[in-house]
Amino acid sequence: MMDRYKIPRTKELEFGGPLGAMILIFLMPATVFYLLLTCRTEQASVLNFPPPLPPLSTLWSPHTFLLLLAWVGLQAALYMLPMGKVTEGIVLRDKSRLQYRINAFQAMGVTALVVGAGLAAGLRLSYIYDHFLQLAFSALLLAFGLSFLLYFKSLFAPETTLAPGGNSGNPIYDFFMGHELNPRIGSFDLKYFCELRPGLLGWALVNMAMLVKETELRGSPSLAMLLVNAFQLLYVVDALWNEEAILTTMDIVHDGFGFMLTFGDLAWVPFIYSLQAYFLVNHPQKLSLPMAAGILLLNGVGYCIFRSANSQKNTFRRNPNDPRVTGLKTIPTATGRRLLVSGWWGFVRHPNYLGDLIMALAWSLPCGLTHVLPYFYVFYFTVLLIHREARDEHQCLRKYGLAWQEYCQRVPYRIFPYLY
Ligand code: NDP
Repeated sequence: MMDRYKIPRTKELEFGGPLGAMILIFLMPATVFYLLLTCRTEQASVLNFPPPLPPLSTLWSPHTFLLLLAWVGLQAALYMLPMGKVTEGIVLRDKSRLQYRINAFQAMGVTALVVGAGLAAGLRLSYIYDHFLQLAFSALLLAFGLSFLLYFKSLFAPETTLAPGGNSGNPIYDFFMGHELNPRIGSFDLKYFCELRPGLLGWALVNMAMLVKETELRGSPSLAMLLVNAFQLLYVVDALWNEEAILTTMDIVHDGFGFMLTFGDLAWVPFIYSLQAYFLVNHPQKLSLPMAAGILLLNGVGYCIFRSANSQKNTFRRNPNDPRVTGLKTIPTATGRRLLVSGWWGFVRHPNYLGDLIMALAWSLPCGLTHVLPYFYVFYFTVLLIHREARDEHQCLRKYGLAWQEYCQRVPYRIFPYLY
């Protein structure tokens, strides 16, 4: 009976199959250390030969590792607290639905109180800046350790609970993509927990630590640092406020929980997304008020597009008869679901990615135009979203067939109007 719900072997491999996965398992951590080490140099130039990796004995610090574990432990404890509502995820292959606790926003509030109390008691937040490489190394070890445990656990998981995209039978590929879709310990959902809390809140905390360090060095935070902190904090708060929306994203619905997501959530987000703030500590930038106002406007435009496009689709998917979306034109599909073809989703096929990319540019501009390094996020994110868009289109074409083709005809541009 359960056999019909078994996840079939993954036939179409992504990221270049096992070889590509193997390369990425090394390339992703190497990129983190390359960027952090280059950012610490005086010139911070991507044209220079990469600085040598410090010896492992200086990267490994039991103290920072324990600190990282304490941070993740705090977030795990807050996730388990019976505050916030419980909601259901999408219907799974075996027709069941998992329950998720929605309390990331409250967890952020409690975290802010804990950090505030720590600061009042004399906690030096600039410790994070001073031990940044060690912390990144600890996060890398944690991501590897967790990925191995997850893969091991998945070998004993029922076949109905595996990830459609991470069941190739090749251990390297499945380790990277994630073999199990929603690994849980009791009701503790490991992927859902890691997606938003330790990494995203960690990113905001790292940014704040950079601001504190800059203040220690120069007496007051710079306008550039304040903008970077404010923009990125808005993004984090927005993600936590809209936590429920993550339940319909590709990461939760389609991708298994393997190295790609553990490393992304625990190491890449907090240590790479904070690169602009890290850069500004060592490379102060003068920002004129008109320039700051222009950047503020750009971020506002990006945020409005990002938020209203995401909200429009989420509202429509939750209740197509909601008065806020009933005026929009739609295309029926064979699945019974409809596709929006006016409003933001009639402008380009991924308006939310467009808004996200405009914000990415606004986060880097406060770092001036003299260095390429702080623009890494813009380049990387453009590649990531173009690739993600292609993956999503592929899945939508499979799901909706002719209706998706009609949508593509009526809305010809994917992300950038008249360009792409
Ligand atoms: P999206 O929110 O873009 O969702 C894609 C899905 O939306 C499709 O699979 C389809 O699913 C549905 N859809 C597509 N077109 C239409 C339409 N015309 N009408 C109705 N439904 C449609 O996916 P993501 O998870 O990639 O992105 C979510 C947000 O997260 C984005 O804003 C993105 O920028 C952001 N993001 C940020 C990252 C970061 O590191 N900062 C990383 C990745 C994403 P279905 O039909 O099944 O509902």
